[in-house]
Order: sequence, then structure tokens, then C-alpha cells
Amino acid sequence: VNISDLGESGLIARLKTILPTASPDLLIGIGDDCAAIKLDDNRLLLATCDIQVEGEHFHRYYFTPYQIGRRALAVNLSDIAAMGGKPTFVFISLGLPPDLPTEDFDDLQRGIADIANEFGVIVAGGNLSRSPAGLIVDIFLLGETTSDRLLTRSGARPGDRVFVTGHLGASIAGLRLLQAIHANPDKSELAPRSSQLVTAHTQPTPRIAAGQAIAASGWATAMIDISDGLAADLGHLCEQSGVGAEIRQTSLPIPPELPEVAAAWGVSPLDLALYGGEDYELLFILKPDTSDAVIAAINESAGVTITEIGRILPKEDGCRLLSDSVARIPLPPRGWDHFSSPPYEVGGGVRGELKEDSRNP
Ligand SMILES: [Mg+2]
Repeated sequence: VNISDLGESGLIARLKTILPTASPDLLIGIGDDCAAIKLDDNRLLLATCDIQVEGEHFHRYYFTPYQIGRRALAVNLSDIAAMGGKPTFVFISLGLPPDLPTEDFDDLQRGIADIANEFGVIVAGGNLSRSPAGLIVDIFLLGETTSDRLLTRSGARPGDRVFVTGHLGASIAGLRLLQAIHANPDKSELAPRSSQLVTAHTQPTPRIAAGQAIAASGWATAMIDISDGLAADLGHLCEQSGVGAEIRQTSLPIPPELPEVAAAWGVSPLDLALYGGEDYELLFILKPDTSDAVIAAINESAGVTITEIGRILPKEDGCRLLSDSVARIPLPPRGWDHFSSPPYEVGGGVRGELKEDSRNP
């Protein structure tokens, strides 16, 4: 047996049997978007880490060093957003290929600096190493919130309403465009028309303001950021809340550019929106009687459109999709898993490297 047989969740379950993971001050430990550590009766320290590995999370042929740095901090900021928190201090460990040009090193720092400045994050430390295996950016980010505002994955109840910020499926479509243009420069005419999709992948916007507005509203019961894909992250939230959910296909916020790109690869825009992943939008749950005024106020402060996409059901109903043909089909929590092989299963390989023969099946 090796790690690929267990998958990411199997590995986490295994390490929890070996490591010390419990403390009265650790209010939220392994298994949510961030850890929450009690500082006093009200204040909580949030902490999250995320590693970006060349060849696994990105390739240098379609990401600039600037984008790699910026994105590495963005995905950590997204986890602070998912707790409704305010980001504060960051530690950055870098594994550097010995032949990395110094201009690329500087551009990587500029990418981190720009998004750190945007969100008021201060670099407090880090670590440098040579990395013969490729570029590695490992980020440890701290944030803060208060115990009355803490939102986790586990508070959703049947009857609650399901919302998302922004669009779904843009990031995976942008990734496939970048791969296609690399494989066949003739396709580069696609890029300008789809620049929003490419930007969604290369420079995702962490929804910090939205997360804080949702948590401060007092009407939210649970929240998670969409890193693995809507279906997978809804599955995580439902599992930890002990509930099911129904998502309405016709309500999903699919970007206007997505159908054309999806058609070019013979995949459905719906598959990209449900299973694509790396959108770094927020999936959040509001109480059934949340007023239109509260929702409008969240929308106003969020800086991004929010969309109601479904409702929470009892656990025994499972997670399902109400399709446009009014059929109810099960929504398996499939999505990105770095340790399963192949790491994608959907729509003939939504997440895989683009193959010449899969472009027009
Ligand atoms: Mg997350």
C-alpha cells in the first residue's frame, strides 16, 4: 500500500492517529479551512498553510514568477476568508531551483508583495532552501477573528439557504486555455476573448471582504472556500454539518465565456462549474428567514455578486443536483485530490493535462 491508494482524506485520517491534535485552546483543528486558536475570551487566532509545488499546482510555462507568488498567497487568503477572518501576518518558505534567474526571484517577491499590500498582510518570516525538484512556495498565514463571528463548515441546518460568491468553472477553463495555447500556439486567438477565465486561474481574488460581511451579518451558519470544486466542497461542508443539500442547475453562476471554451473540448460547462475547482469563491449558508435587506447588504460589502444556488436538506437526502430537466441526480463529492491517481475522474478528465486527442473527442 502506498499513499496514492489512500487519497488525501485517507492520509489525513491516518496522520491524526499518530500526531497530537487536541488542546482546550484549539477550538478548530484539522479539517476546516483554518485552525482557530483561543487567545482570550473573545479573540481568536486563525492559521492556515498551503504549499504550491511546481509540476503539481503550476507549471512555469504558463505562470509567470509574479503570478506564482501572488497566487500562493491568494489561496491562503481564501482560507482566512472562509472563516470570515482578517489576515495579519505571513511566513514564506521557498524551495528554489539552483538555476532560477534572480529576476524571476524578484518577480516572485513582487507578486507576493502586491497582494500582501492589497490585504494589509505583513511578512513576518520564512525560510529558503535549494530545491532540485522545482520551485516550491509554502505559505503559512495568520489571521484573526472573534468567537462570536467564527464561521466553520459545521453549522448548516436543514432548511438553510446555499449561496456562492462570483462565478464557478472559470478557473479550470482558464487553465485549459493556457494548456491549449502552450500545446498549440494557433489557439492563442482564444486568449483575449477568454482573458477573464485565464485571469481567474492565474490571479484568483480571495473573497476577504465577502467573508467578513457574511460572518458579521449574524445570519450565516456555515462557510467554506471552493478550492476542490463546488461538488467536493459542498460535500465537505455537508459532511461536517451532518446534512444534505440540493443545488439548482439553473441557478449556478456560470461565466458567460465558459460555454464556448467548454464546447471546444467537448465538456459541459456544468461539469466545469461543479467539479473544476480552484475558483476560490466562497460557498456560504444563510438561515432560512434571512431578509432580502441582509442579503443585499452582504452583496454590497462583498465587492462581488452573490448568488443563491440551493438549500440544505436532511442528511438522508444526500447531496443532489436539481437539473434543468427537473430530474434529481446525485451529486457525488468528486473533485481534486492530489493523491488519487488519476487525480481527476470527471467528464473524461476535466482537470487533467490537455492531451492532443482529448481536445475534440
Ligand atoms: Mg479551504
